[in-house]
Amino acid sequence: MDASQYSRLTLLERVDFADDLALFRLQADEPVHFTPGQYATLGLSQNGSDRPLLRPYSVVSAPGQEELEFFIERVDDGSLTPHLWDLSPGADVWMRDKIVGRFTLDTDRTYHLMAATVTGVGPYVSIIRNQLRALRTGSLDAPSPMLVLHGASRSWELGTYREELASLADRADWFGYVPTISRPWDDPEWDGERGRVEDVLRKHLDAADFPLDDTAAYTCGHPQMIEKAQGIFERAGIDEEAIHEEKYFA
Ligand SMILES: Cc1cc2nc3c(=O)[nH]c(=O)nc-3n(C[C@H](O)[C@H](O)[C@H](O)COP(=O)(O)OP(=O)(O)OC[C@H]3O[C@@H](n4cnc5c(N)ncnc54)[C@H](O)[C@@H]3O)c2cc1C
Repeated sequence: MDASQYSRLTLLERVDFADDLALFRLQADEPVHFTPGQYATLGLSQNGSDRPLLRPYSVVSAPGQEELEFFIERVDDGSLTPHLWDLSPGADVWMRDKIVGRFTLDTDRTYHLMAATVTGVGPYVSIIRNQLRALRTGSLDAPSPMLVLHGASRSWELGTYREELASLADRADWFGYVPTISRPWDDPEWDGERGRVEDVLRKHLDAADFPLDDTAAYTCGHPQMIEKAQGIFERAGIDEEAIHEEKYFA
């Protein structure tokens, strides 16, 4: 393997939210720089091959840290993810040195409406953590208003991101968070929004009252949600070039 293009990361921990959903924390040797919203290419060595088996994953942590966070779903018949679940803390994971992608904050617009299925919340969390840090350090005076819609079948699949984003929404007037659950019968304690992201999107888009000619819309995760949400954004009057997508699979 040509190790010059890759960094060796160390698995610190895996935090399970469900059998097939977990947060992975990985340690790099030095701070890792990227634009929030971008993805890293992670992989594991394969016997007899000079190239690791690689897949792209959105970085959830903010840039400039040695610790990297990812929110990953295990695909049972997938090539890579079942092996990620076999790893113990201390294991090596390779990462391509270039962190890339264009799913970053649209700086031509002031307002940001972000729709995600499950792990698709990752890029938004990185963007939001970065904005919070910029406000704290004084490098940003005026926060960009943001609304995140985050869907899953059951509430625990939203992971610790639900608490993190709901708590931010309680204290920051520039931020809103709507978690929504599509299988409430599996989750009898749930008293929040019900339905898929695309079922409740228009209602929350209207309630946010963002000026549509100054609003960027983002969709990330499941291709079906992305397709439906984009139609809703377009019909609501958001400019086509202000609608952004990160499709996790075809
Ligand atoms: C830019 C980008 C960013 C991504 N970021 C993330 C991320 O942050 N977290 C994350 O979990 N995944 C993310 N993905 C998906 C990820 O790269 C892999 O495709 C996924 O982890 C499956 O890899 P695998 O090798 O286990 O399965 P593969 O062997 O690659 O896939 C097996 C089959 O499963 C399908 N499939 C892949 N993912 C899913 C899924 N989630 N649900 C149902 N079917 C699926 C594939 O289309 C294929 O048919 C991202 C993808 C892209 C393109």
